Amino acid sequence: MSATASSNRAPIRIGVVGGTFDPVHVGHLQVAETVMDMLHLDRVLLSPTAQPWHKTARNLAPADDRVAMLKLALHDHPRLELTTVDIERGGNTYTIDTLRDLAAEFSSQIPGRSIDWYFITGADAIAALATWKSPEELLAMSTFIAVSRPGYKLSMPDVENEAAIRLLDISPNEVSSSAIRGKLHEGASIAGLVPDPVAEYIYAHHLYGAA
Ligand code: ATP
Ligand code: MG
Repeated sequence: MSATASSNRAPIRIGVVGGTFDPVHVGHLQVAETVMDMLHLDRVLLSPTAQPWHKTARNLAPADDRVAMLKLALHDHPRLELTTVDIERGGNTYTIDTLRDLAAEFSSQIPGRSIDWYFITGADAIAALATWKSPEELLAMSTFIAVSRPGYKLSMPDVENEAAIRLLDISPNEVSSSAIRGKLHEGASIAGLVPDPVAEYIYAHHLYGAA
């Protein structure tokens, strides 16, 4: 195919869900797949943070464990993919670096093909967007897709480029990693909140105080 023919093709549409995934749960998977279907995305990447930017007071499970659980979770969700760009870069994870690294990686992987990026967040995360590093640059690089999440109002954050943000009503799922960690500390069941192989991994590795 000639360069002209290839650059005339429609852009590839790639979604990214960034998060601590501590641990990955059914809500993450549902959000990723729902947005993939609603927006007809070609690919969706899940990107676990190296070291969180807003949870410095709390120790995360080791990156190796969070990645291992994501791999187990994605086994039954083959349309979703894992990227470890943030863990490989290390240090505090900023979404601007995630998007820059992914853009560089994919432009060398698929040269000459333009990519439309969609960064996917829950209502809680989008509410804080104005406090993220380089919000307007982020909105120039990627469309932001914010989905409803129980307990949070889905609304436009305080940014200039509102046109780059889409608020998407999806059927709510109440699950959160913090609630899962809380249940494990109390010895309560987490059945149905994470894929079964993830629960098995948590118990086998005694993560989050699981006995
Ligand atoms: P924690 O309770 O530790 O913050 P979490 O469940 O919020 O964990 P994160 O890894 O922090 O999971 O979230 C990654 C992204 O997924 C964020 O944009 C968050 O808003 C979104 N998300 C997570 N769970 C849900 C959910 N149940 N509904 C909608 N969005 C969600
Ligand atoms: Mg969170």
